[in-house]
Amino acid sequence: MPSLEELLTRYRSLILVGVGLPVGFVFDAALRLRARARELLGAAPERHDERVRGVQAQVRRWAAQPPAERRPMCTDRRTWQNLSTRFEPKHTWSKIKMGDLCDVLGLDEAARTVRVEPFVTVGQITRYLIPRGYMLAVNLEIADATIGGLALAAGMTTHSHRVGMLFETVVAYEVVLADGSLRRVSAESDPKLFRALPWSHGTLGLLVGIELAVIPVKPYIHLRYLPVRTQEGYCAEMYRLATADDAPDFLEATVFSRHEAVIMCGDFADADTPEARRKINRLGRWYKPWFYRHVETYLSGDGGDEYVPLADYLLRHNRSIFWVVEHMIPSGNNPLFRLLLGWLMPPRIAFLKLSTTPAVRKMTFTLQVFQDIVLPMSAMRRAVDRAAELFDMFPILLYPSRVYDHGEAGGQLRRPAPEDMVPGTDYAMYFDLGVYGVPGPIRRGERFRTVHAMRAMEAFTQSVRGFPFLYADTFMTREEFAAMFDLRLYREVRAEVGADGAFPDLYDKIRPEVDVLAVLDEERGYPVSLAERRDAAE
Ligand SMILES: Cc1cc2nc3c(=O)[nH]c(=O)nc-3n(C[C@H](O)[C@H](O)[C@H](O)COP(=O)(O)OP(=O)(O)OC[C@H]3O[C@@H](n4cnc5c(N)ncnc54)[C@H](O)[C@@H]3O)c2cc1C
Repeated sequence: MPSLEELLTRYRSLILVGVGLPVGFVFDAALRLRARARELLGAAPERHDERVRGVQAQVRRWAAQPPAERRPMCTDRRTWQNLSTRFEPKHTWSKIKMGDLCDVLGLDEAARTVRVEPFVTVGQITRYLIPRGYMLAVNLEIADATIGGLALAAGMTTHSHRVGMLFETVVAYEVVLADGSLRRVSAESDPKLFRALPWSHGTLGLLVGIELAVIPVKPYIHLRYLPVRTQEGYCAEMYRLATADDAPDFLEATVFSRHEAVIMCGDFADADTPEARRKINRLGRWYKPWFYRHVETYLSGDGGDEYVPLADYLLRHNRSIFWVVEHMIPSGNNPLFRLLLGWLMPPRIAFLKLSTTPAVRKMTFTLQVFQDIVLPMSAMRRAVDRAAELFDMFPILLYPSRVYDHGEAGGQLRRPAPEDMVPGTDYAMYFDLGVYGVPGPIRRGERFRTVHAMRAMEAFTQSVRGFPFLYADTFMTREEFAAMFDLRLYREVRAEVGADGAFPDLYDKIRPEVDVLAVLDEERGYPVSLAERRDAAE
């Protein structure tokens, strides 16, 4: 008699299509409808100050409690609503009610900035800005991500080789500190706190407003697909394109095997000639092939170009969640499936999280890999090789980003190595290595030491001065984490603004709720992978 776990695993895809997709769709539609109704009928940007006073009052009440009764504070955004793979233990913290801070407060066209409340989502700001001819300079491709979450975490996109991560585009943060005071934090007014807020994950204060840069847009992206069939070739070409004076507006590559990739260069365009109009591809439509499968068709041949409507471009990876959905619903890209059920895709992340019990999370924790890792471009070849050896899975996502050198103790990100700096600039060119899916050995039904492999990838990352996005599971100990990130300024600022004890410590905020070291021990009995044998021999 198969166990429930075996049945769930065997029929996962059927259960997901028959139950998960429709229920998730209805659930998501209800959430979106509620958000849209609020946007259209209930938006009240003029009540921003009142809402902030409400947050301040709650924090002051918290501060008035006897110290022994105070539990660290966090926002009341539900843990299943966020895009992180882990489940924050919010029930052990004091939740501050602030979910109503979700209005766009105004666009300043002269200064090219927009001011928003922190829970404004990427989808919402896109709907607001695009009709006015703008978008965020760093506009994540996931509609449900919040601007506050991006500003305090990572925020890196295929435009980041031009501007850096989202925090580089922030003019000012509005933060409620542990004593209930409100501070507008800019590079001039409060340089230390300004530098420490990015990658702080809400552990220095509560973000109640943010002002950040927008860029002008055109209705289409002229997308050029360039196949490259050597590893040296795609690594060199990505670096050349990212650092060129006329770098494309958007740049990314999908790596299909160690030596094969398709580089995509996108530029804002009007599509106002008959030839351009013939090449329009509304690739976001439900019946269209998944984006990475479409990209794959350019591997054979000399490449090509298309005009993609801006919104379709921005959400190009949405329906297949990069290539993750293929592992959940293997037939999802079949033309018949797309035609009949494509409109239900993708499975909603929020619904998947809401329906994940602790037991299911423990079960799936080691069965899949979900990592975005930021590494200097000088390490691109080695990083692809290392990821391929450790996980045996493709495609891999690559896109470049500037990492600015903000000097000694310039924030949680370590200063780039001098040899990685782009000559004549104050930044180095890094890239995101996106590894998503089910490792090869697991797909083949073999036992796999996922945590060992993840820790080996983290060790590689640290050896080249890289760092992982912290929305994904981290496998480092507290000491290893402190070596990966530069916590000097963070600790100084945390003490200065009274955040110690008032907000969780950064490591406690971002570590997975699953006991990683216990899983590490469990894995010791598994067969050793080729990569580990090689490591042991080295
Ligand atoms: C499939 C997938 C692909 C992704 N790809 C990318 C990518 O290419 N680039 C990228 O940058 N990111 C990427 N992400 C990650 C995403 O950017 C992060 O999860 C990001 O944090 C935004 O998500 P969120 O709005 O759910 O943030 P949350 O997880 O809600 O917030 C991030 C942190 O900030 C804290 N916080 C949020 N708001 C406040 C506030 N108002 N006050 C105090 N603290 C606050 C939260 O408690 C949390 O610790 C990806 C995620 C997924 C699932």
